[in-house]
Amino acid sequence: MEASSFRSTREYAERMDQADSLSRFRAEFYLKSDSIYMDGNSLGLLSKRAEHALMETLSDWREHGIDGWMQGNHPWFTMSEQVGEMLAPLVGASPEEVIATGSTTVNLHQLVSSFYKPEGIRTKILADELTFPSDIYALQSQLRARGCDPDTHLIRVKSRDGRFLEEDDIIEAMTEDVALIVLPTVLYRSGQILDMKRLTEEARRKGIPIGFDGCHSVGAVPHAFSEWGVDFAYWCNYKHLNGGPGSVGGLYVNRSHFGTLPGLAGWFGSKKEKQFDMAHTLEPAESAGAFQIGTPHVLSLAPLLGSLEMFAEAGIESIRRKSLGLTEYLMALIDSELDGFGFFIGSPRDDVRRGGHVSLEHPEAARICKALKQNGVIPDFRAPNIIRLAPVALYSTYAEVWEVVRILKDIMAEKQYERFSNEREVVA
Ligand SMILES: *Cc1c(COP(=O)(O)O)cnc(C)c1O
Repeated sequence: MEASSFRSTREYAERMDQADSLSRFRAEFYLKSDSIYMDGNSLGLLSKRAEHALMETLSDWREHGIDGWMQGNHPWFTMSEQVGEMLAPLVGASPEEVIATGSTTVNLHQLVSSFYKPEGIRTKILADELTFPSDIYALQSQLRARGCDPDTHLIRVKSRDGRFLEEDDIIEAMTEDVALIVLPTVLYRSGQILDMKRLTEEARRKGIPIGFDGCHSVGAVPHAFSEWGVDFAYWCNYKHLNGGPGSVGGLYVNRSHFGTLPGLAGWFGSKKEKQFDMAHTLEPAESAGAFQIGTPHVLSLAPLLGSLEMFAEAGIESIRRKSLGLTEYLMALIDSELDGFGFFIGSPRDDVRRGGHVSLEHPEAARICKALKQNGVIPDFRAPNIIRLAPVALYSTYAEVWEVVRILKDIMAEKQYERFSNEREVVA
């Protein structure tokens, strides 16, 4: 048998699973025996450790009442810092540069409030036209709040093909009227990784602060935010990090900005030992902790204590290696098995440029997704024509990837999708 046709057998996939050094983590997650989860880039699954950490926190509340702030299994007063410390290696930062707080969009508001300092002709914010809508809404409203017209002050770098961004185009747009740059680490549709190191170098050369939205990379792709000199970053912890629905977000600020007053201040940004002095002058923490606002959402933070232990044990480099192996295998099977069915792979083939998911384009994508669900595969759909598939390093297998492609092939060969309407659900 030829090497390529052996790769398309289930036996090959099973061999890859046997050789997988991360396979032990799968048993730690709640997986359904009758379904294949390919949506870990939208909402990661519950693990036993995340559940345990949450239950311990509930028990601290039951046992200690108000004293849970300083006592119990995981004292609440320092939990945001504790989770921040666990997140730091995943973004390549020191523990004081990271805090678990707020949510993606709220953290973006906080960071723009703190780092957008329009002055003279430098008044614009540079973003891109493929960015997640919430980020754009936040940037537009921040501009309005400063009396700037978003139509003229928000620059959105164009994509040449609707899928990818060219770093050259972004760098060209870093003109002298730009006061702040906000970009994604990984594009949420195509899964393209931007060259953060290069973009940061160019922004620094031009003296423009630069920040990244890490929602689609943190937990799947290694970063070196500190080393690259990235000014700030923010991300959610419910996607690749499996922190649970609405889990508290992540925020990174480079240590060179410690001491910058938060744009949106609140008492949880205080130096810890000063917070309960109750003074009317904020003494901000000398860390990313200064960018916290109010009381942490402890019950949405606790699962991360358990979940992040697994990332520390597995190591982000091994996670990345397996993730790339899974997505490369998925694309290879799509090429060999689904040829002629009208699919187009809208993700970068090059490992260096591909994040944690594969974007599969098809005009009938909405109803192919519905047919996948009926066959026990959980994908996600992005209008108008994208099926996103995310095999996740800690709990997905090569055999599942193989099975997904086999099911897709049946759906297409038997035109099963024609039984469904080609419209998206309310939550896609
Ligand atoms: C998921 C996601 C968000 C979501 O923001 P929330 O404030 O957590 O709702 C924002 N930006 C990107 C790029 C995302 O992928």
